[in-house]
Amino acid sequence: MQQEMALIFELSRDGRTGYSLPEQDVPEVNLDEILPSDCVRKNEPELPEVSELQIMRHYTALSVRNHGVDSGFYPLGSCTMKYNPKMNEDTARLAGFAHIHPYQPEEQVQGAMELMYNLQSHLSEITGMDEVTLQPAAGAQGEWTGLMMIRAFHEANNQPQRNKVIVPDSAHGTNPASAAVAGFESITVKTDKRGLVDLAHLKEVAGEDTAALMLTNPNTLGLFEEDIVEMAEVIHEAGGKLYYDGANSNAILGITRPGDMGFDVVHLNLHKTFTGPHGGGGPGSGPVGVKKELAPYLPKPVLQKAGNQFTWNYDCPASIGRVKPYYGNFGINVRAYTYIRTMGAEGLRKVSEYAVINANYLMRRLEPYFELPYNKHCMHEFVISGKRQKKLGVRTLDMAKRLLDFGYHPPTIYFPINVEECMMIEPTETESKETLDEFADSLIQISKEAESEPEKVQEAPHTTVVKRLDETLAARKPVLKYERAASTSPVNV
Ligand SMILES: *Cc1c(COP(=O)(O)O)cnc(C)c1O
Repeated sequence: MQQEMALIFELSRDGRTGYSLPEQDVPEVNLDEILPSDCVRKNEPELPEVSELQIMRHYTALSVRNHGVDSGFYPLGSCTMKYNPKMNEDTARLAGFAHIHPYQPEEQVQGAMELMYNLQSHLSEITGMDEVTLQPAAGAQGEWTGLMMIRAFHEANNQPQRNKVIVPDSAHGTNPASAAVAGFESITVKTDKRGLVDLAHLKEVAGEDTAALMLTNPNTLGLFEEDIVEMAEVIHEAGGKLYYDGANSNAILGITRPGDMGFDVVHLNLHKTFTGPHGGGGPGSGPVGVKKELAPYLPKPVLQKAGNQFTWNYDCPASIGRVKPYYGNFGINVRAYTYIRTMGAEGLRKVSEYAVINANYLMRRLEPYFELPYNKHCMHEFVISGKRQKKLGVRTLDMAKRLLDFGYHPPTIYFPINVEECMMIEPTETESKETLDEFADSLIQISKEAESEPEKVQEAPHTTVVKRLDETLAARKPVLKYERAASTSPVNV
């Protein structure tokens, strides 16, 4: 599929250049006189000497080796790799937004502050919360921020013994991790046969030491927690708070709200649900919404509006403090605001409806060929298991690698951890029926190959530049720079 690319170092020819500099018009300095001698290079750097056209082709070739939402289908469950509308990029690049600096005085950046204020209001309305902070830079940081507020609340109410956070076994790994970093012990609550939180078990573990229940809804199996109101009652009666992991709110926008389900805190991932581009670990935004009771603990400064004037209020004595320098990842917030304004309330509801229809369509097309551990209506994503194929010697990892040959980014695999050999598929709302059908056909073909020619799947991928990596070696001993001798390591590209 992709052509072999000559390494730029091998194209190098002595004396060839791709640049020209103006003649030197300042006196030459002796570096040894102005820098410590161990900082001065003794030998010329060994850089490739190539023409402008060669370097152009090199970087262009590199750029298309990457798979992104703009180049193909990317059904990575739980990660919500949805299309990033280009209008969002235009607004984020407007000079009035792109060229300001967080140290500028408030009166010079009123427009940016108004945007943040409005975005907070929209997110409050979307989630059913009273107040929102835009400070956290990612979902995980939002979780930690929310838990620190819950902690401050319990301490202020003389309940410091509330040191346990209940987390379902299907939760995203960041949930128990955030609980630990916020100083809590995490307690696991089981998933029952329905794929939902085991209510009886929840009642057993909730008690006087419960600080909070952290819940993802729809859960990571793509199922809506049917007993949500009862679960809220159990936790509130025990004196705990309810935390909603809203990283993937694709299925609920405009349909239901965490605030109405009884949740006290919610975080959103603007880089997932609200279209911020987030491949390769780019900047994120994980705003946190809270009910009134928790509002005094919000990170400071808090954005305020008096008349038509926006100000930062630092006088928040109960605040947990700052969680990030400045005011959040502003560029991602501009993109999310643009998205919300272009979609409107009705548009956001349609987003969720289409996301759910797409996921259900794909699930039913795959159902005859794969084990469906929870055979019920799914939300914006679903989980299938490769148990049948495993009996033929083909693992889910092999099928994921084989999908690369068809030009797709594979789904999330082996997560959630409570389903054997699982694949977690999230098609998102913007994909067409044709794309969904082509993807389904490819996976169905792979399931047939598992029967007729398993080696083909086990040895995949066949068409990519880099073949199957030794993942342990790649993680432990990555080769990150060009090595002149032919390297045996598969990670040297
Ligand atoms: C992605 C995700 C997170 C973590 O968000 P980051 O921005 O990666 O820190 C938390 N919970 C769920 C359910 C997620 O999908």
